[in-house]
Formats: sequence, C-alpha cells, structure tokens
Amino acid sequence: MDETTTILTLGEDYPDIRRAVGRICEDFQGAYWREMDAASAYPLAFVEALTKSGWLAALIPEAYGGAGLPLRAAAVILETIHASGGSAAACHAQMYTMGTVLRHGSEAQKQKYLPAIASGELRLQAFGVTEPASGTDTANLRTRAVRDGNHYIVNGQKVWTSRALYSDLMLLLARTTPREEVTKPTDGLSVFLIDLRELKDNGVEIRPIDTMINHNTTEVFFSDAKIPAASLVGEEGKGFRYILDGMNAERTLIASESIGDARFFLERASSYACERKIFGGPIGRNQGIQFPLARAHAETEAAELMARKAAALFDDGQPCGPEANMAKLLCAEAAWHAGEACMQTFGGFAFAREYDIERKWREARLYLTAPISTNLVLAYIGQHVLGLPKSY
Ligand SMILES: Cc1cc2nc3c(=O)[nH]c(=O)nc-3n(C[C@H](O)[C@H](O)[C@H](O)COP(=O)(O)OP(=O)(O)OC[C@H]3O[C@@H](n4cnc5c(N)ncnc54)[C@H](O)[C@@H]3O)c2cc1C
Repeated sequence: MDETTTILTLGEDYPDIRRAVGRICEDFQGAYWREMDAASAYPLAFVEALTKSGWLAALIPEAYGGAGLPLRAAAVILETIHASGGSAAACHAQMYTMGTVLRHGSEAQKQKYLPAIASGELRLQAFGVTEPASGTDTANLRTRAVRDGNHYIVNGQKVWTSRALYSDLMLLLARTTPREEVTKPTDGLSVFLIDLRELKDNGVEIRPIDTMINHNTTEVFFSDAKIPAASLVGEEGKGFRYILDGMNAERTLIASESIGDARFFLERASSYACERKIFGGPIGRNQGIQFPLARAHAETEAAELMARKAAALFDDGQPCGPEANMAKLLCAEAAWHAGEACMQTFGGFAFAREYDIERKWREARLYLTAPISTNLVLAYIGQHVLGLPKSY
C-alpha cells in the first residue's frame, strides 16, 4: 500500500462506543432536553455523566489520563448523542479545543490541565474567537493582550463565547502585536489558555445572550484582565495558525453531530409517516411526504461519507481542509433538509414541543451558520480547491 493511501471504514464502526454512549443517552430523553431548553439551563447532569464515563476525554492521550482515541471515535460519540435526540453542544468544544493545547501547548500546560480535564475536575468548554465588529473576519479582531512583566493585560470583547459561564478554562485568541506592525493581518495574534475562575468579576465579565436555542452562549468583556504570561500557548504571534489547525477537527466533529441530527429526524419522520393515517391511509404513502424523506436520507448517506473521509485523513495525519469543510457543509445541509422534511411530515404536531421536532430543528439550523457559515465554506472551496479569485 502506498504511503498516501488512507483507509476509510464503512458500516457501524466503533459499535462498543455507540452502545455505551447510547446507554448514557437513554437516561437523558426528550423530557430532559426540553426542560433544559425551556430554562436555558446548562445540561450539567448529562455533561457529568459523559465526563464520568470518560467519553469527553476521548481525544486526550492516555499519558494525560484520557482515552487517546482517534477523531473518528469522537465523531461517533457526538453522532450517537445527536441521533438519540440530545445535544452535545454543552460539551463538544472540549474535544476540538483540545487539539490546540495538545499540539502547541507546553509540557507544563499539558501536565497542569489535561489530567484535570480528563477527570472532570476542570472544564475546557469556552473558545473565544468571534468579536462583535470582526465576525468571520477573524484577523480583524480587536481584543488586545499586552505583555507586562510576567503577565499579559487583556482588553476587549468577545461575542458568542458559548459555555463561558460553565467553563473553568477558556482558549482565547487575542492580538499581541498591533495590526499596523505586522505584514500579514493573520500575524500578531496569539492563543492563551486562561483560567476563568480567577478572572470572573476580576477583569472579566460574562453576560448570557438570549438565543433561539439552548447553547449557553455569552458575551465576554475584558477590562485590564491580568493573566499569567504562562497562559500563552506556543509562540506569541502564531495563534491564528494554531487555531486554524484545530478547525479541521472542529468542522469534522460538528459534521458528525449534523449526521446524528439527520438520523434523528429521518427515524422520527419515517415512523410517524407510517403511523399517521389521514384520508384513510398512512401519510407516508404520499410521494409529497415520502420523497423529501428519501432524498434527505440519500443526502445524509453521501454527506456522511465525506465526514468519514475527513476524519480518516485527519487521523492519518494527512491534509484534510477541503474534506473537513465539505463535510461540515454537506452534513449541515443534509440535517437541515431532513429537519425540514420531518417538520412537514409531522404537520401541526411538529410545533408541539413534546415531540422534540421543533427543538431539534432549531438546533440543527445553527450549523449552517456556526462555527463557520455556509458562504465562507463555499468561499474556501472556491479559492483553495478550485483556484478561483478570493472574494474578500
Ligand atoms: C449559538 C452560537 C454559538 C457560537 N459559539 C461560538 C463560540 O463558542 N466561540 C466563537 O468564537 N464563536 C462562536 N460563534 C460565532 C460563529 O462562529 C459566528 O457567528 C460565525 O462564524 C459567523 O460570524 P458572524 O455572526 O459575525 O457573521 P458575519 O461575519 O457578520 O457574516 C454575516 C453573513 O455574511 C456572510 N459573509 C461574510 N463575509 C462574506 C464573504 N466574503 N462572502 C460571502 N458571504 C460572506 C456570512 O457567511 C454570513 O452569512 C457562535 C455563534 C452562534 C450563533
């Protein structure tokens, strides 16, 4: 086999993980998620169950107390949660932010934090990149971290920093060299692993944002927040590249959540379409109901292949930017189309909260926008894969 060949597994891979995670999800049925959603509450019991069983530490190497599993295994964990009707949004960031610390963090940072994260003593759930004025244009972010002896002083604002109120640690991207002083706008940005416990109400203020889904997302304000210089991850000024490295993992994992969502919608819709009798027969015999479901199924199966390809390349240490982006795009769209078909299939009952369809439909919509919007994925494919001119 030549060394660039990557093996792609088909079928129900990681059956033990699917079974074990599925068993945990049985304790967190629709009523639990509806209650969390109605109260905009952090699903603490679910996150704790997942942590205790070790699944949230899937990507932490065994040497630091984790399971040391490949990305594909983590994808299976997230897919299983979403297919069960739940949501991994409260804790998935722990999986994809981990890569930045693993690849670029110092040994001291890894020793200090990873075993505590693996055991559940600490949560690394917050990822502060997006800002109100810069949005997708990350290189234009304004939060500044200025070196002052053994510390950095941070000033600025992040928005959509999900889970910041429920996380002990945050991975923060801030500018350390003013934009006017760097050649490339992406230079001069640095990543910090900061301890929010010491900073809350001591230079950092966190305000929840009221959103259409329960995502525990916030605005984070930094006013002269003093962080130890040892919080810097890797080299100063190289942070943008470190964050980009982790984004392929993030896109691949989010894609697998979308596959789980799609499977949830299709399973619920298919069984409802067989049971629900209108005009003397099951609504599922009508092509207007059946075909959108069949099409969404076909899309889901195809999108899943791209997600598996992205994970296989990632796990093999191969470049996977195009595949990770395409997986995120195709899986999010497949989930959305499955959600739409499911909404139509359930008719008026789709709007009744007790069926969980409207909640999952709201949740599935996020992945067309975040962590990267569809347009920006298309711009990436146009520019980097097809060689078309850059639009921005
Ligand atoms: C619930 C939620 C949770 C989130 N969690 C986090 C988090 O934990 N951490 C974090 O850092 N961020 C988070 N985000 C932010 C998310 O990543 C951004 O919302 C997303 O990247 C889009 O940025 P924006 O909202 O500023 O949109 P903008 O950048 O303002 O873009 C608005 C629209 O214009 C389009 N657009 C912009 N430029 C172009 C172009 N050149 N060509 C074509 N179209 C273009 C975009 O595709 C988009 O549709 C979250 C967002 C949400 C809604």
